Amino acid sequence: MKIVMLGAPGAGKGTQAKKIAERYRIPHISTGDIFRANMKEGTELGQQAKAYMDQGQLVPDELTVHMVMDRFSKDDCKNGYVLDGFPRTIPQAEALSEALAQAGDSIDYAIDIEVPDERIVKRMSGRRVCQKCGATYHEVHHPPVREGVCDVCGADLVQRSDDKPETVLSRLEVYHEQTQPLIDYYKEKNVLKRVDGTRDLEDVFQAIVDILDE
Ligand code: ADP
Ligand code: ADP
Ligand code: ZN
Repeated sequence: MKIVMLGAPGAGKGTQAKKIAERYRIPHISTGDIFRANMKEGTELGQQAKAYMDQGQLVPDELTVHMVMDRFSKDDCKNGYVLDGFPRTIPQAEALSEALAQAGDSIDYAIDIEVPDERIVKRMSGRRVCQKCGATYHEVHHPPVREGVCDVCGADLVQRSDDKPETVLSRLEVYHEQTQPLIDYYKEKNVLKRVDGTRDLEDVFQAIVDILDE
């Protein structure tokens, strides 16, 4: 099963993608996570990506597509994957479709998690992430058992530097300009599914499971 998660920054793509990956035993591939891992390791890719990420802009398509194709070549991708944060532009979506088409394959589902902008800005201020393992929490909607400490690995939780309100606003702008057109792109391919992302985390997941188990 090959799934693309669509939705604004903070819509809940990562949260749901992790749950999908667990339930359907497919890898969760988050381009944001891969960029952040590269930044932490100080690789050249990480240094290149950082400048864009700090500004709330997209990393150039060429770098991003190359990185994703590299990830696809790993063994665990044979039975599918859930893509979180990729594609984010029409050229990225086209590169993905073409790569899959070469193997006679295509995306099975594009799940759009719908959340209005006003809610996004509020939600982002409460997002906390684990520096070590990347687990995501929310101060109100999904708190860890011990405040400020990751349930999974015990490391400290931090706020992402691009989650400050000014950067969130630029990211939303970029989303509407460059990523939202993917909704029509996948609608035309007859794989688009919409879910209401304003509901409770578990309710959103149930709606997704209903679609995938149909
Ligand atoms: P969010 O979880 O808020 O949607 P991500 O972790 O997916 O954010 O992405 C963080 C940043 O990483 C983006 O603002 C962008 O700079 C960069 N990025 C992630 N995925 C892509 C992509 N597919 N194309 C270009 N830039 C990307
Ligand atoms: P994205 O990957 O789309 O940027 P995340 O999955 O990181 O989004 O979620 C953004 C923030 O909102 C996180 O703090 C997360 O815990 C929280 N969150 C996710 N889904 C919901 C939901 N349905 N209701 C309330 N908060 C949510
Ligand atoms: Zn952790």
